[in-house]
Amino acid sequence: MFDFVIIGGGIVGMSTAMQMAAEYPDAKILLLEKESSPAQHQTGHNSGVIHAGVYYTPGSLKAKFCLEGNRATKDFCDQHGIRYDACGKMLVATNNVEMERMKALWERTEANGLEREWLSAAELREREPNIVGLGGIFVPSSGIVNYAEVTRNMAAAFTKAGGVIHYNSEVTALDERADEVVVTTSTGVYQARFLISCSGLMADRIVRMLGLEPEFQICPFRGEYYLLPKQHNQIVNHLIYPIPDPSMPFLGVHLTRMIDGTVTVGPNAVLALKREGYKKTDFSLADMFEMFTSLGVLKVLKANLKPGLIEMRNSLFKGGYLQQVQKYCPSINKDDLTPYPAGVRAQAVSNSGKLIDDFLFVNTNRSVNVCNAPSPAATSAIPIGAYIVSKVKEQIGERAFFAAPKLDPNDVRASA
Ligand SMILES: Cc1cc2nc3c(=O)[nH]c(=O)nc-3n(C[C@H](O)[C@H](O)[C@H](O)COP(=O)(O)OP(=O)(O)OC[C@H]3O[C@@H](n4cnc5c(N)ncnc54)[C@H](O)[C@@H]3O)c2cc1C
Repeated sequence: MFDFVIIGGGIVGMSTAMQMAAEYPDAKILLLEKESSPAQHQTGHNSGVIHAGVYYTPGSLKAKFCLEGNRATKDFCDQHGIRYDACGKMLVATNNVEMERMKALWERTEANGLEREWLSAAELREREPNIVGLGGIFVPSSGIVNYAEVTRNMAAAFTKAGGVIHYNSEVTALDERADEVVVTTSTGVYQARFLISCSGLMADRIVRMLGLEPEFQICPFRGEYYLLPKQHNQIVNHLIYPIPDPSMPFLGVHLTRMIDGTVTVGPNAVLALKREGYKKTDFSLADMFEMFTSLGVLKVLKANLKPGLIEMRNSLFKGGYLQQVQKYCPSINKDDLTPYPAGVRAQAVSNSGKLIDDFLFVNTNRSVNVCNAPSPAATSAIPIGAYIVSKVKEQIGERAFFAAPKLDPNDVRASA
């Protein structure tokens, strides 16, 4: 019997595991991951930005956790010798509509407690000679890091504290009973006193396994990137972001300096026909059936038909994609856009047909389930983990939980 079983070896699961092991040093904790190593999905396929917290609704979990997570991620990197670069981010307005939107963003950054600077067109040009715009906002606390490396370090901290990780173990069924949760996996059956799920693109399926009918559906959106050739590695000094349409803040490709010194363009947001489908041609009939029979998803697709089709067109034809970047970086041309691996976002859609904006958790008597953790959840993973620990503490109260001695990790399978 394990005290805690955690599903998911992405950054949210590993951060939670690490903090659970610190909070409950005598507990037996097992993390189950279906892949052969950590960070194989969203955590290993993203922009690597340590977000500052510009766009999020003031008072939301996203705004709070992103602000805290920005600091916590940098502190974690300092403690573990992980390279990051606090290079700052430039939001660039290229026309009058965007200038108006930029004013609203300026207010929002104030409400979210961010340090920032308003830049005129000339000041923008001075700091970023290859970028054109009518003005910009500079946010110094944004940075870049490799989140897969952060996650590997969290996994090491977890196992060092006595936690156990089983890779290649896919959770296939769950049975929540009065005094335990029975966790069936592709490699064995485990008993847990308490379950935590951080399963990203599979979040709704895990909730369903617990016997609940989730009020949301995970909708996968592929984010496609291009890599600029090496001669453009110095094209920008900061992260360059367009001013987004406030109704779709995740649309709009950005220029991202990566921690390895390269620069990427992207990501876009295209409906994916497979949850873990990284190629344009990937599809899964089962995933498509689930998606296209969900009234909520159909409503979202209908309401966002035009931008959705534009994203699809720009995915298929480089020209459209290029136009978006050339708006603020005119020197980039078609040949500069070279292939780069895509990522797939797990975006929860409510059954009533809304893209769920904030982080979402669903709890049962013996489980906490992370159900919506899209960007900036990599930045926010440490506060999200701390929040989950606090929820677990609330739920288990003072129950005498940890009677059994800690297992030797080598004996775990035999004893589970
Ligand atoms: C294109 C893109 C760009 C992004 N850019 C940024 C950014 O710059 N900054 C930022 O902060 N955030 C960014 N994000 C968001 C960020 O990457 C995610 O929010 C974060 O990685 C979510 O972590 P996670 O652990 O919840 O999910 P994941 O990393 O997807 O991990 C979930 C894990 O659960 C495992 N799992 C699922 N089901 C099972 C099962 N049944 N049994 C066992 N294991 C299971 C999966 O294999 C997976 O490893 C981006 C995301 C994408 C896709």
